[in-house]
Amino acid sequence: MARILVTGGAGYIGAHACKALRAAGHEPVALDDLRTGWREAVRFGPLIEADLNDLDATRAALAQARPDAVMHFAALSNVGESVRSPGLYWRNNVGGSLNLLEAMVETGVRAIVFSSTAATYGEPDVELIDEDQPQRPINPYGASKLAVERMLDDFEAAHGLRTAALRYFNVAGADPEAEIGERHQPETHLIPLVLDAAAGAREALSIFGRDYDTPDGTCVRDYVHVWDLIEAHLLALERLMGGARGIRLNLGVGRGHSVREVIEAAERVLGRRVPVRDAPRRPGDPSRLVCDGSRARAELGWEPRLSTLERMIADAWRWRCSGGFGP
Ligand code: UDP
Repeated sequence: MARILVTGGAGYIGAHACKALRAAGHEPVALDDLRTGWREAVRFGPLIEADLNDLDATRAALAQARPDAVMHFAALSNVGESVRSPGLYWRNNVGGSLNLLEAMVETGVRAIVFSSTAATYGEPDVELIDEDQPQRPINPYGASKLAVERMLDDFEAAHGLRTAALRYFNVAGADPEAEIGERHQPETHLIPLVLDAAAGAREALSIFGRDYDTPDGTCVRDYVHVWDLIEAHLLALERLMGGARGIRLNLGVGRGHSVREVIEAAERVLGRRVPVRDAPRRPGDPSRLVCDGSRARAELGWEPRLSTLERMIADAWRWRCSGGFGP
């Protein structure tokens, strides 16, 4: 059993990590400033309310939690916002991570699993993105995550930290037991917005661009179930605790789905119509991001089991119908 500090533990992916850590016999301690997280999502261990931008508060949190390792999810993650307000992303995502790493070194915490992103690859030249592709982000969100990966390289070399950076493709779905799920305020992610439109909570889903160079003209993404994603984190953590270093892996399933296909799958699963309208392209969106997921399978023995569109939509819907978080 290990004590794991989960930054962003009140957020979508961090809360699922806390639940999975607890289920695996570990002791999760959530750290969150509740700026974008939900107090109701912290159900599997204590919460330390702190902002990673505050170095003293970060030091105090590590001294209080005395974790064996850190899972670092806390970040702003909205591509459109990052294009409009890059300073926010550099300050928060990069500055917060720097404070965390410095405080880890000071307090002797040796291992970190970092939530990185396929957005670090930018607009890829290949159909399936493997880990050797050049990382050339096209928006400040991706750039801020890449900067943290570089920081991890340097801290690993200088201070002997053991680090894993897991580059997520599109995370979706909810806890199969529907205790926690995805909620952002405002919501910008495709699947929750599709569900809102299906439920009549918004007039129509905006399709951001139908003129991309993809089979149906809408953007293609590789969707991975949050529960599968977290399983990869537990496997990476195990490897780090066993002495591994420099884990850099893509987490996706290797199958692309267009925005159109997501809408059609939701209509099938929910038995409802999803009203849509056409909208301009969203700045910063690459046309296609699909993963070559073979390295994570080989290195971690990871096997995504829940990552079909149908299952992700069904689990997200079930959680939404159970009440969700917030007003
Ligand atoms: N998208 C869309 N309408 C929306 C929200 C998203 O057409 O209201 C598209 C978006 O352009 C992207 C895909 O859905 O191609 C997934 O977007 P999301 O924000 O969920 O994740 P991202 O790919 O930005 O991480």
